[in-house]
Amino acid sequence: MCEVVPSSSGVSERMRRQSRRDTSPEVLLRKSLHASGLRFRVSYPVPSCPRRSIDIAFTRVRVAVFVDGCFWHGCPQHGTWPRANADWWRAKLQLNILRDRNTDDLLINEGWTVLRVWEHECSRDAAGRVAQVVASRRQLL
Ligand SMILES: [Zn+2]
Repeated sequence: MCEVVPSSSGVSERMRRQSRRDTSPEVLLRKSLHASGLRFRVSYPVPSCPRRSIDIAFTRVRVAVFVDGCFWHGCPQHGTWPRANADWWRAKLQLNILRDRNTDDLLINEGWTVLRVWEHECSRDAAGRVAQVVASRRQLL
């Protein structure tokens, strides 16, 4: 975030909104998971790439959950491409998406199951999906 210099108030307004919203869908999901009795680690380092972190990690069953912001991670429904500095933004957002796919690959190669939840998804539905995957992985242990 620190290197980002928005060129227009429209973009800076979006970023301000976005950074505030970025955390709350994850917090809601964590609350739902916790309420259903699940225990997990938060911001857990990706084993082969500790500079990156898993938003919600079930380390024993190796389930990694990411809550992706619609703007930063290019949601097909809500991802937008800013018009000011279009090339710079396109490169920046595409890099984010490539990094996400690469993180998925690293984790899958290490035997993890990766779940990505969009910030626009209902946190209770998402928690249900996560709980199902965690339960089925437990049966394999
Ligand atoms: Zn979205």
